[in-house]
Amino acid sequence: MSWRCVVCGKKITEDHKPDACPLCGVVSDYIVADSEYERPSGTLSAAAIADYDRALALEVEATNIYNEAAERAKNEGDELTNLFFEALAKNEHGHQVAIKFQQRMRGA
Ligand SMILES: [Zn+2]
Repeated sequence: MSWRCVVCGKKITEDHKPDACPLCGVVSDYIVADSEYERPSGTLSAAAIADYDRALALEVEATNIYNEAAERAKNEGDELTNLFFEALAKNEHGHQVAIKFQQRMRGA
């Protein structure tokens, strides 16, 4: 079955409704059956648009830092640190996707 997070728009394919969104972390109250999902509407304020832009820049910077740290650890033969920073980079990239989704859906 498919579910959808109404906060970040993440589509989730699982048999049972998850306890939390795997992308943004909101509790299951904000997860609906994909068939019941309605795209967010309304426009964003200028301040909200600026907040989304700042958040996206932060996530891009964090992703870059984690990727650099992962590469350095890989070159140094530190597999655990490499995997750790790769996982963090993947997480931050997911945040970027969620922010871009919100910006696109809300017309920012
Ligand atoms: Zn979410």
